[in-house]
Amino acid sequence: KWARFPYQKTLLEFSIEAQNSLSERQLTQLQEINWLEQQYNLILLGPPGVGKTHLAVGLGIEAINKGFQVYFVTMGELIQLLKTEEFAHKSQVQMKRLRASDLVIIDDLMYMAMDQREANLFFQMINHLYEQSSIILTSNKSPDQWGELMGDEGITTAILDHLLHRVKVVHMNGDSYRMKNRQNLF
Ligand code: ADP
Ligand code: MG
Repeated sequence: KWARFPYQKTLLEFSIEAQNSLSERQLTQLQEINWLEQQYNLILLGPPGVGKTHLAVGLGIEAINKGFQVYFVTMGELIQLLKTEEFAHKSQVQMKRLRASDLVIIDDLMYMAMDQREANLFFQMINHLYEQSSIILTSNKSPDQWGELMGDEGITTAILDHLLHRVKVVHMNGDSYRMKNRQNLF
């Protein structure tokens, strides 16, 4: 009930044909949510429009249906929440929900570069989550580019150590669904 998805799209609406990088079997495995029970993290990588957010939302809905607490946040919102948590009651409420969730979906990691303080806050949060929750991260940058954007190789390595400890990485490299399905005027 706290998920705050940007849109409600299920896995039934997710067409596997558009995804040459994801097999029917893999999708079924993801859908079974065992990875969540085992506190595995999921990293969905690929260029814009290939269905990263849709897949994350679909899996989030699936997890909610199975009784898990899910929290969806974009990286931009998350950094805002972390920076205002100390003094803004609204942010405290949201962060409390996020920290209590079984699954936290962080959409569009590395959309923007972080400064040192932001990277630190992000690291502390990952540190807190990784023992008790699963995380889905979506990004259009590969993990070897994350260091550059977080501005601190040490923090990035520490974050990756935690995230990659138990992880399933899904490379989504199909054509942009948005482009393929746009309505042509002429
Ligand atoms: P991004 O990878 O940039 O997060 P989205 O997941 O938001 O892309 O997908 C862009 C749009 O295309 C959304 O409306 C989404 O529902 C649709 N879409 C993308 N991939 C698929 C797919 N495999 N099946 C059905 N719809 C898709
Ligand atoms: Mg997206």
